[in-house]
Amino acid sequence: MAEAPPVASAAVPEFQTSPGMRDILAPDSVRFRRFVDAFSSVVEPAGYQLVIPPLLEDAGVFQRMGETTDVVAKEMYRFTDLGGRDVALRPEQTASVCRAFVEHRPTTPWKTWYAGPNFRYEKPQRGRYRQFDQVGVEALGVDDPLLDVEVIALGWRFFEALGLRQVTLLLNSLGEPEERARYVEALHAHFTAVGDGLSEESRATLARNPLRVLDSKRPQDAAAVAAAPLLAEFLGAEATEHFAAVRCGLDALSIPYRIEPRLVRGLDYYLRTTFEYAGGTLDSAQNALGGGGRYDGLVEALGGPPTPGVGLALGVDRTLLACDDEGVFTPPSTAVEVFVVDTTGGAEALAITHELRAAGRSADRAYDRRSMKAQMRAADRSGARLAVIVGDDERAAGRVLVRPLRHGGDQTVVDRPDLLTQLEALLP
Ligand code: AMP
Repeated sequence: MAEAPPVASAAVPEFQTSPGMRDILAPDSVRFRRFVDAFSSVVEPAGYQLVIPPLLEDAGVFQRMGETTDVVAKEMYRFTDLGGRDVALRPEQTASVCRAFVEHRPTTPWKTWYAGPNFRYEKPQRGRYRQFDQVGVEALGVDDPLLDVEVIALGWRFFEALGLRQVTLLLNSLGEPEERARYVEALHAHFTAVGDGLSEESRATLARNPLRVLDSKRPQDAAAVAAAPLLAEFLGAEATEHFAAVRCGLDALSIPYRIEPRLVRGLDYYLRTTFEYAGGTLDSAQNALGGGGRYDGLVEALGGPPTPGVGLALGVDRTLLACDDEGVFTPPSTAVEVFVVDTTGGAEALAITHELRAAGRSADRAYDRRSMKAQMRAADRSGARLAVIVGDDERAAGRVLVRPLRHGGDQTVVDRPDLLTQLEALLP
C-alpha cells in the first residue's frame, strides 16, 4: 500500500522569528515611526543632530565600555566575519557615537541624537528582547552640569510629549573614577563578608562586578543590599558640587526627581551623574524606560583626547508598552481616505488612484477584477471614509459615484473632472 503523503501543517510555519526578535506590523509599525519623529521634534530644536552609526562594529569598540559590563561580557552577538575580523552587533549606541567622534573629530560641543536597533543576548520576556530599539542623545565635549540637566530635561519633555504621566526620575552620582573605584572596593568587601548569605547568582555577579549586586531584586539579597555602603559617602568635593548643580538645575526647571543612592545602572562607563526614568505601570524588573549619565572617560578609552560626555537612551519598545498601559500615544489609523471601486475592468481605478495620490490624497483600490460586492466589502474593510465607484454606466456618462462609508450621508453623482474638488469639500 502506498504511504499517505505527509499532512502539511498550516498552523506552524517552518520559519518563525528567532527568540527575542519580533516582527512589528501595522499599526504598531506606524506608531513606532511616529515615536522616532516625536523624539526628533523634541531634541532637534535643542541643537541635537541625527547620527546614524553602523549596526556592526569592531568588537573592541564595545569591549572598551568595560569588560565586566554584562552586555559586553555575556550578551554580545559577537562573531568573526568572512574577512577574519572580530565584530559585534552593537548592544547599545553610546560607544559607537564615541567611536565616531574619535574617527571624525567634529567640533565640540557635539550634540547628536540617534534611533535604531541594538542586540543583546538576553532572556526574552515582556519588555526585554534580543533586538530592541532605542532613541537617545549624546553630547560630547562639555563638562558643565547644566548640560546634564539639559539632557535629563529633554527625556522628561519627551515623555510629556507622549502623554505619559507615570514616570519617575531617579538620580544618583557615581563620583569621579577614583571615588567610584574605592566604592567598588568597599562594596566588594561588604558583600564578601555576607558570604553564603548572598544568593548564588549575586555571588557570581560579585566576582565580576560588585556594583551590579546592588541591582539584585532577589529577596535573599535584600538585607545585604540594604546594609551596603552608599556611594554618597565616597564622593569628593568636585563630584558633590557637580551633583548639587545638577539638582539645582532640575529644581529650577521644576522637574521632580528622587535621589536613589543605589542607582548604578548596567553600563560600567558611567561616572558622576547617573539617572533613570522608571515607568509606573511596568513590572519592577523591567520598569526602566530609559536612563543615562556622564561617561567622561569613554572617548579617551576609545583612543580619543580626554573628552567629557553625557547622554541618555530610551527603550522604544518598553516606552510603548508603558504608553499602552496608560492609554496614551495610541496606534494611529492606517486607513486610506478613499477607496476606488471599479467594475469596468480596473483601468479607471488605476487612473483615479494615480490622480488622487498625485494630489496628496491617500487612496487604495481592489485588484483582480473582483465583483462589485467583493470590492465594496474590501472598501469597508479598508476603513476609508469615502468610496469612489465607477460602473459601466458611470464610465459611459463621464461620471463617478462618491459614497460615504463611515458616517452616513448620501451618495452623490460627480462629473469626473470635478472629482478632486468634490473630495476637497468632503474630506477634512
Ligand atoms: P541601557 O542601554 O541598558 O541603559 O538601557 C536603556 C533602555 O533601553 C532601558 O531602560 C530599556 O527601556 C531599553 N532596553 C535595554 N535592554 C533592553 C532589552 N533587552 N529589550 C528591550 N528594551 C531594552
